[in-house]
Amino acid sequence: MATSFNQGKPYHGSDAVCAGKLQGATDTDYFYFFCSRCEGKHIVRLLDYEVRHEQAGNPYNDQLKSTAPKSFILAFKLHCEKCDLTDFVKIGNLGLQGGEFKHVIPG
Ligand SMILES: [Zn+2]
Repeated sequence: MATSFNQGKPYHGSDAVCAGKLQGATDTDYFYFFCSRCEGKHIVRLLDYEVRHEQAGNPYNDQLKSTAPKSFILAFKLHCEKCDLTDFVKIGNLGLQGGEFKHVIPG
C-alpha cells in the first residue's frame, strides 16, 4: 500500500545537504548521492520521492535558447545506512538555469 511522502510530515533538507555539501556522481547514467556526514564517498539510499510540483511550460523559456516543456520539482528522501543520516534534497528546473556554481556558493 502506498504511503504519503515522509508520512505526510513537513520536511526540508538540513544544513548537512545545503551550500554544496551534498555531492554525488554517476556510474553509468544513474546518479548517486554521497553521504555528507561520512568520510569518503559513501553512497546513500533513496528511500522515497515525491513530485512536489509539475506544470506545462517553464518561465525561463523566453529568456534562454533551449526549451523546457515542463516545470517540475522532485523531492527525495535520502538515508545513509552507515551513519543513519536521513535528509531531503530536491531537484527541479525552476531554480538556477546555468552559470558557474562558484558565483552561487563561493569557496
Ligand atoms: Zn553517512
